[in-house]
Amino acid sequence: MTMQHICILGSTGSIGENTIDVVLRHPERLSVYALSAHSRIEKLVAQTLATRAKVVVVPDDAARERFIQSWPASANIARPEIRVGAQALADTAADAAVDTVMAAIVGAAGLPSALAAAKAGKRILLANKEALVAAGGVFMRAVHDNNAELLPIDSEHNAIFQCLPQEGKADGAHQAANGVRRLLLTASGGPFRETPLEALAHVTPDQACAHPNWSMGRKISVDSATMLNKGLEVIEAHWLFAMPVERIQVLIHPQSVVHSMVEYHDGSVLAQLGQPDMRTPIAYGLGYPERLQSGVGLLDLAALGRLDFHMPDMQRFPCLQLALDALRTGQHACITLNAANEIAVAAFLEGKVKFKAIAQIIEVTLNQLSCVGAGDIPDSLDEVLAIDAQARHWAEQTCQHIMAAAR
Ligand code: NAD
Ligand code: MG
Repeated sequence: MTMQHICILGSTGSIGENTIDVVLRHPERLSVYALSAHSRIEKLVAQTLATRAKVVVVPDDAARERFIQSWPASANIARPEIRVGAQALADTAADAAVDTVMAAIVGAAGLPSALAAAKAGKRILLANKEALVAAGGVFMRAVHDNNAELLPIDSEHNAIFQCLPQEGKADGAHQAANGVRRLLLTASGGPFRETPLEALAHVTPDQACAHPNWSMGRKISVDSATMLNKGLEVIEAHWLFAMPVERIQVLIHPQSVVHSMVEYHDGSVLAQLGQPDMRTPIAYGLGYPERLQSGVGLLDLAALGRLDFHMPDMQRFPCLQLALDALRTGQHACITLNAANEIAVAAFLEGKVKFKAIAQIIEVTLNQLSCVGAGDIPDSLDEVLAIDAQARHWAEQTCQHIMAAAR
């Protein structure tokens, strides 16, 4: 068996940690070549010692110094090569020594490195959904043109990938020929699925991050509470599986056991089930097409007893509606939606704005930017980043206005 050399972008996050957990279970076939972290440098040191990574990437010289200071004198392995900055992140994703890139940086900050991996023709395990939301066209073209292999890690998309016919999973024409009718994307509904609507005005960041089923980073946890996460996932599914928005159905499924489904023209519905633990889709991506041990426990359906499904309430989750509308409007709107959400969620997590302001900031930003020329479809990373920067600027302004009004 040939050894697979892996680069984990965003190794100190929730997905990054779960990836290392799975990789360390298979030393005979998986080896970590590179790790990257943005802030938790001590954790990066510990991960380097555990995985024997050859390269680490940190954001700046101060982080580089911290890494050197934290490296234990007693270490029984050589200190890794330390690379610095965003360009180094992209270069490492494209490094000739790397076979597989786990793209697990949060937010549009993960786009350039994920795109570099695609351009270098790597196997990409894509957790970072914001890359596809902001740059679906550019990214999918890079994957196709460079014969990269794209395996979705987001649990819903991984489930759909498993339930689609083997041939042409990312090819719309192929899927129509194979009888695929719709994608059924499940959503837990997050921590506020049943919270009285009037109480949503006062929920705190910690309440928003207390997801009932999944343990995740704080940004995606807030996205799950607003259900913007499901909106981002509809856009992600649109690009991954060449599926129009009309043929993607969101279903609330509070138990998070059915990770998503594919409906066929003959009436069949194929589903993938399992414990809500990201190590399953991660192991699927790392082993594909083989199945690896992931450390995840087995599903006990009899103990579970029942599985519930119902339609999402758009009044409770206005962010979901905003995302579906953005996908119908076009790429410019999707970039704006994502950028405004990143600003809004950061402001909410810092206690600067209330929970309900997140939807407001996204909506106002979308409305403002449609006035300054939405139409064009960007076809380069630079164009995407320019639209993203403009949207962040407007979202910041909107945030300031909301804060001033609240004082
Ligand atoms: P997290 O916040 O736990 O970790 C984020 C990682 O990205 C950290 O390693 C951090 O150092 C790094 N990072 C943050 N900002 C950066 C920047 N500007 N430049 C470079 N690196 C930066 O996030 P997470 O929950 O692991 O999620 C990662 C991605 O995976 C997100 O896009 C999320 O939507 C997606 N995802 C996560 C889960 C989950 O269960 N956590 C499930 C599905 C999809
Ligand atoms: Mg998901």
